[in-house]
Amino acid sequence: MGSKTFKYSLSLIYGPARSRRLGLSLGVNPSPLTCSFNCVYCECGEKAYYVESPERVPTKIAHEVVYRSLEQVLNEVGESRLDTITFSGTGEPTLNDELGLMIKDAKALADTRVTVITNSSLLRRRSVREALSSADEVVAKLNASSQRTFLTINRPVDKSLSIGDIIEGLMRFKQESCSSLTIEILLVDLEGSRGNSSLEEIEGLSEALRKIEPDKVHIHTIARYPLERYVHPVSRGRILEAASAFEKVLGRGRIHTYSSGALRYSIFRSTLLGYLRTGDPEAYRRLIEGSYKCPLTGRSLNPMNFCYCASCGLVFSMREARIRLIDDEYVLLCPKCSAVLHRSSGG
Ligand code: SF4
Repeated sequence: MGSKTFKYSLSLIYGPARSRRLGLSLGVNPSPLTCSFNCVYCECGEKAYYVESPERVPTKIAHEVVYRSLEQVLNEVGESRLDTITFSGTGEPTLNDELGLMIKDAKALADTRVTVITNSSLLRRRSVREALSSADEVVAKLNASSQRTFLTINRPVDKSLSIGDIIEGLMRFKQESCSSLTIEILLVDLEGSRGNSSLEEIEGLSEALRKIEPDKVHIHTIARYPLERYVHPVSRGRILEAASAFEKVLGRGRIHTYSSGALRYSIFRSTLLGYLRTGDPEAYRRLIEGSYKCPLTGRSLNPMNFCYCASCGLVFSMREARIRLIDDEYVLLCPKCSAVLHRSSGG
């Protein structure tokens, strides 16, 4: 295709945006498009990198680059307006082994709360629990109590990771840390099944909450288009049923429920789609109707799994993408442009 009219750099800082759960929040994205899970409901869509640990992340996001971006944005938006700085984004924050440093940087730059949203996969590690302890609040996902449902919904990269390990990590974090711990439970229906809101799962989650004793529990369902089309939001009634089961364990004050309206694309996916619609309307049309094949793999592309090369403009599968730093900006490149950059930088 060759259009270069829509160079897109991966946002390390985004917002501020108002959230019902966190107030006015400025987002930090320390592990863009890099995750240890491949959740069926993920609103970011496919990632460039699926890895189980920080040591395996191919492109590390440096804390100095985050610091410079955060400082600049805070000067523009004014820290006093913010309710929190939130480390989350389009990947798993704890996969960045400089997360603890970044949290401390954020606290030095702004007199505001710092929140981290994590998928809980690495809480077994003492180093990760220590890094998270620098935050004021940790919002940790727990979407299953049985191993079968965990593997079906969260699809961890490390298949030997057990839901028991995750619950154990959450218990330890709660015992060791002074940070407030919120457990975030996202309920979904899978086509033809109740997903993670069956009676057995809710009973199992109640038991897990009894052990973890979090400060708060948030229960919600999807509000953005999910990665997999067979994933659907649960009804408000199902959320309230779960809330009433958890209230029996933790009391009413700690349980909060959130509903969703009609599904929309996430900010990340709608930004990518918007660039493509403007930069290459023909590719956009074929992608939407499902007739666009990845030129590298032959795989069918859709709004949740495509990306494009910031250098040559090729539209291709996100799984083939490489993340590279160019002029203090992280961008997505196709394998060919990434190799050229590597050679020209003497790598
Ligand atoms: S929902 Fe979160 S944990 Fe799951 S794949 Fe997406 S970014 Fe990773």
